Amino acid sequence: MLARAQALISESALRGNLTALARRAEARLLLPVKANAYGHGMEAVTRLAAPHPDVWGFAVAMPREAAALAALNPGKPILLLTPPTPEEVRPLADLGVRLPVASVAEADALPPHARAHLKVDTGMNRLGARPEEAIGIGQRLAERGLLEGAYTHFATADEPDLSFAHEQFARFQTVLAALPPVLAHAANGGGVLSLGPLPGMSLARPGLAAYGFAPSHLRGVAPLTPVMTLQARVTHVHTVHPGETVSYGGLWRAGRETLVATVGIGYADGYPRNATGSAHVLIQGERRPVLGRICMDQMMVDVTGLKVRVGDWAEVWGPGSLTVTDAAAWGGTIEYEVLTGLGARVERVAVG
Ligand SMILES: *Cc1c(COP(=O)(O)O)cnc(C)c1O
Repeated sequence: MLARAQALISESALRGNLTALARRAEARLLLPVKANAYGHGMEAVTRLAAPHPDVWGFAVAMPREAAALAALNPGKPILLLTPPTPEEVRPLADLGVRLPVASVAEADALPPHARAHLKVDTGMNRLGARPEEAIGIGQRLAERGLLEGAYTHFATADEPDLSFAHEQFARFQTVLAALPPVLAHAANGGGVLSLGPLPGMSLARPGLAAYGFAPSHLRGVAPLTPVMTLQARVTHVHTVHPGETVSYGGLWRAGRETLVATVGIGYADGYPRNATGSAHVLIQGERRPVLGRICMDQMMVDVTGLKVRVGDWAEVWGPGSLTVTDAAAWGGTIEYEVLTGLGARVERVAVG
């Protein structure tokens, strides 16, 4: 059976972004591949990214993601970013997964073959040990030979005012100064782009930026290209007469004879339903409006004047004139949410 929608994952765009971000950070990358690699497909992304010399390893959010990635055998280290349950520690350590540690109890529960990254909470107030406690935990891990890394996470690095990010980084440096040398990492994509090289950091964790997107005030800091092109097939072409309506609720009414293409993607695939009324797609390179309500599995597009046939592709977003940023804005959300919401029916295909 043919997939009605495909996400083409560009190896050259991904590699170019990784090179640009490593250069900007002057650090190797711990590439976040959580949430199915921001919707791009964890299998495809890790396979394409693993050979890149600037990639040190991969970061995931959930123990299940860590286990799934370990089973793919990516050939590079995997760091789990959120706390495992006590029962999950041993099997994850057995798989070689690096574990976050934020308490003495967690440190003491690690088996002797585990590798730990000390998680320091410098102001995000989500996870981690406060700086004054982190030092003792880190020293304890180091004494047992388990301390591979230490990290923190910025709350505001993608915003124009960087004063709090600098404050957070200063707190992190205080902790690092009291520990033996470890792999230290702090910057997400916003941090890499806005702060550039950070003293003492051997790794950086740019997620969305690696997939090609920068906050609007940081565009142009590094050459980034959207990695994904999302396309969906035309499944039906028909003519709608003046006065007739299209889709649920009859929101859109034809003012003239209109050629309509039905396209096989909808909100169950992750396309934002709230983009109804503003959404456009590219058909034969032309920007065409989506007519009426976006449905669960389909959307209807005005293709008047074009020679469109069943089986043709419509470009839903890509690196060109219509991007995820547009779709997110139409849907009243952000690129992160749109990309990570991309459904399992969308086929991921690696391309050069
Ligand atoms: C998701 C995540 C990142 C990546 O963030 P981006 O904003 O996508 O660059 C980095 N570090 C941690 C701890 C994260 O959870």
